[in-house]
Amino acid sequence: MARTGTPAVELDGVTRRYGETTAVEDLSLSVREGEFFTLVGPSGCGKTTTLRLIAGFEDPTQGEVRFGDESVTGVPPEDRDVGVVFQNYALFPHMTVGENVAYGLAFTDPPGGGSDAERVRELLELVDLGDMVDRDPDTLSGGQQQRVAMARALAPGPDVLLLDEPMSALDAKLRERLRVQVREIQQELGITTIYVTHDQEEALAVSDRVAVLHDGRVEQVAPPRTIYHEPATEFVATFVGDNNVLSGEVAAMRSTGNSDSGSSQCLADVAVADTTFSVALNGDGDTSGISTGDRLTFCIRPERLEVDAGQNELTATVASAEFLGETTRVHLDWDGRELLLRTEEPPEGAVTVGFEPADAHIVDKGR
Ligand code: ATP
Repeated sequence: MARTGTPAVELDGVTRRYGETTAVEDLSLSVREGEFFTLVGPSGCGKTTTLRLIAGFEDPTQGEVRFGDESVTGVPPEDRDVGVVFQNYALFPHMTVGENVAYGLAFTDPPGGGSDAERVRELLELVDLGDMVDRDPDTLSGGQQQRVAMARALAPGPDVLLLDEPMSALDAKLRERLRVQVREIQQELGITTIYVTHDQEEALAVSDRVAVLHDGRVEQVAPPRTIYHEPATEFVATFVGDNNVLSGEVAAMRSTGNSDSGSSQCLADVAVADTTFSVALNGDGDTSGISTGDRLTFCIRPERLEVDAGQNELTATVASAEFLGETTRVHLDWDGRELLLRTEEPPEGAVTVGFEPADAHIVDKGR
């Protein structure tokens, strides 16, 4: 389906309070037509509340939710053209799989004409359960039940599909399989999908764009690769995968480079404890206006630390190591600071690790 760039769903300065608790604060988001958009963040950050505001189960205390150009304030959930799948969206146990899906059509005619039975068959084929129409839900696996719930939500042909942790009750392997299927179904239909998960790996794996939420606020909205490689804040850097975060004062600013090739690098020398690290300022991140004496916080992914290599070096002690299969995650103690290293060949004892200035990513600057 063509991406028109038109926002399908917009939240404009939305706040939702429950008594003293602010579940969502001044949240602005714009979800594009046909996009797989994921809300990710730790427990209690406001993901479910945001989804419920979009679905119409909650009203904002302040701000506005829009579908296309139109405000949906006061529009009840059943009139919003959304399909919703919850974490434990129990199927009706006394109905067959087919009847459960047909229930999704109870209040509408099948989109595109045709009979209810044809539509049910089409939907069950879409979720790869074409031969299960007469089965009872309790004879299905958890993953199959969630696919039936998805078929039921899709039955009326909604404009927007909302999924709230649909896989959290399933085991890890099944979750991985199901997330691929959910993505395939979304692509096949080209349906605007807003997905809630606390699992950052899942968010990176399936989404066109990800919004990282923290304490009811948006930390960053970006495609998965940008979220991973260019986290906008320290919170994003540490929530999405492992990261080493270091903070120090800018001791000097330098420019290096080759004027013939035109490649030059602007570097800040940052003093962290007794060690000075060179951090590249060109490229990603907001590095404008940084000067000597400023405080810089930067991060380096554990896989970018190298043993006995790299322009910036430090010597640390191996505290522990976790074998993860493909790599080992090594916990280093650097003068009381914990650093992480990912490597196939874990060192022991004292180790010198280094990183290149360009592998440091700035997440915060200040005076
Ligand atoms: P989880 O991943 O644990 O489901 P979440 O990110 O979905 O968390 P929300 O369920 O949106 O978070 O909750 C955000 C905050 O708002 C929490 O502090 C929660 O306790 C509070 N909250 C949500 N719903 C209500 C309610 N109906 N009444 C009172 N407080 C609520």
